[in-house]
Amino acid sequence: MADEKFDCIIVGAGPAGTSAAITCARAGLSTLLLERGEYPGAKNVQGAILYSKMLADILGEFWNEPDSPIERLITEQKMMLLSKDSALFGGFKSDRWRKDQQNCYSIIRVAFDRWYAKKAEAAGAELYTGVTVSDLIRKNGKICGVRTSENDELAADVVIACDGVNSILAQKAGLIDEWRSDEVALAVKEVLALPKEKIEDRFNLEKNEGTTIEMFGQITQGMLGYGFLYTNKESLSIGIGCKVSHFQKTGIPPYDLLEQLKAHPIVRKWIDGSKSLEYSAHLIPEGGYKSMPPLYTDGFLVGGDAAQMVNPSHREGSNFAMTAGKAAGETVIAAKKEGNYSAKFLSLYQKKLKETYVLPDLFDHKDLEEKIESRPELLNVLPDLLCQTAFDYFQVDGRPKRDLQSAIIKRIFRNKGVRHLIKSELNIQNALLLLKQGIKGALKYKSLGG
Ligand SMILES: Cc1cc2nc3c(=O)[nH]c(=O)nc-3n(C[C@H](O)[C@H](O)[C@H](O)COP(=O)(O)OP(=O)(O)OC[C@H]3O[C@@H](n4cnc5c(N)ncnc54)[C@H](O)[C@@H]3O)c2cc1C
Repeated sequence: MADEKFDCIIVGAGPAGTSAAITCARAGLSTLLLERGEYPGAKNVQGAILYSKMLADILGEFWNEPDSPIERLITEQKMMLLSKDSALFGGFKSDRWRKDQQNCYSIIRVAFDRWYAKKAEAAGAELYTGVTVSDLIRKNGKICGVRTSENDELAADVVIACDGVNSILAQKAGLIDEWRSDEVALAVKEVLALPKEKIEDRFNLEKNEGTTIEMFGQITQGMLGYGFLYTNKESLSIGIGCKVSHFQKTGIPPYDLLEQLKAHPIVRKWIDGSKSLEYSAHLIPEGGYKSMPPLYTDGFLVGGDAAQMVNPSHREGSNFAMTAGKAAGETVIAAKKEGNYSAKFLSLYQKKLKETYVLPDLFDHKDLEEKIESRPELLNVLPDLLCQTAFDYFQVDGRPKRDLQSAIIKRIFRNKGVRHLIKSELNIQNALLLLKQGIKGALKYKSLGG
C-alpha cells in the first residue's frame, strides 16, 4: 500500500462523487476522487435535465458563471400520451422559471461532468482519471482503502462509493448482489444536431429557453417506461427506456423502440433534417426504496445510482446523487472531527438523508411501479382508448353531441381491459381502504373545526 493515506477516497466522478469530493475538500480533508473514464463524463449518460436547487446548494448561483455548461433554461414541461397516429398532451409553461432561473436546465453530461470535476479540483481534491477501482481493502474487518485494476493500493479512513448503477464497490462491501432485471431499466438515447433557430422555431421557444417532452403510451408497446425529448442549444436529446425485465419478456430490441419513436408521425416532424451526433445506452436503477442497500458500513458509504437513489416517475436521479454526495461528504467531515469511522457513527449519513427529500421521496414512491405493473391495462389499453376518446370529442361529424357522448361512454365501458381494471380496483381490500381514508379525512376535517 502506498505510504500516503487520504482522509477520504471517492470512487466515481459523476454527480454523486464530485459533490462528495467538493464537500470534503472544502473542509480541508485530503480527498482523492477516482474516475475510470479517460475524463469525467466520458461514458456517462443522462437525458439530461439538471435541477438547479441541488447544485446551487453546493456551488451557489452556477448559472451566472461564464463557463457554466448549461444548454437551455427549461421554461416549459410537457407530457404526451401517444397512440399509433395521435397524441393527447398536457404541459406547463411559466415565466417564473425564466425570471428566477431556479428550476432546471438541459445539459450534456460530457461537458457538465468535466466542468463539475474541475470545481472539486479547485476546492483541493485530487482527481485521478483512467483509474478503475476493482476491490476494497480491509484491515481487521474494516474498509480502509481501495485496490485498482493495476493492482495499486490506496489507503483512506473512509471510502465513498459513487460508482453508478453497476456498483462493484457496493458488491465488494457485501451490501448488494447484482441487480435483478426488474430492479433496473435500460434506456437508449441519441443526440441529434439541429440549428438553434430551427429548435426555437419548431418548439416555439425564446432564445436560450428550452422544453422537455415526456412521452407515454403505444411507443413502449405495453412495457413499463417512457420516451423523452429535450432541447439543447443546438441539438435535441431523444431517448426511450423500459424495465429490463419487460425487454426480456417481450424480446423487443431497445434500439428498435427508439427507431419507432423517431418515426412516429408526431415526433418525426420535430427531428426532421437533424443529424445524429451520438448514440448511447445505459441502465437506470429503478428498484427504488425496496432495493436500496444498507447505506454504510465500517469505513464505507454508498450514494447515488450505486444505492438505487432514483425517482423515475419524476425523472429525478442526478439531484438525488448530488444531495446524497453532499450528505456523505458532511458525514465524513463529522467522522474526521470525532476520529470515528465506525458503521455506528457513519449512520449519521442515513439520518441526514432522512432530513432531506431523498429518503422521504424514495419511501413514498416505493410501490408505484409495482402498482402499475399489476395493472397492465394502464400500459396496453388505456393510452389508445384515451386517444380515441379525444379524437371523437374533437371530431365534428354531424352526430348530435348526446349520441357522440353515449358512444364514447359505451366504448369505454365495453372495453374488456377497462372492465378488468375497474373490477380489480373494486375489491374488498380497496373498498375498506377507501372507507378508512374517508373516515380519517372526515375526523381530521371535524378536528379542524369543519
Ligand atoms: C437515459 C437516461 C436519462 C436520464 N435522465 C435524467 C434526467 O433528465 N434528470 C436526472 O436528474 N436524472 C436522469 N437520469 C439519471 C441520472 O443520470 C443518474 O441518476 C445520475 O447520473 C447518478 O449519478 P451518480 O454519480 O450516482 O452515477 P453516474 O453518473 O453513473 O457516475 C458514476 C461514475 O463512476 C465511474 N465509475 C464506475 N465504476 C467505477 C470504478 N470501478 N472505478 C472508477 N470509476 C468508476 C463512472 O465512470 C461514472 O463517472 C437519467 C439516466 C439515464 C440513463
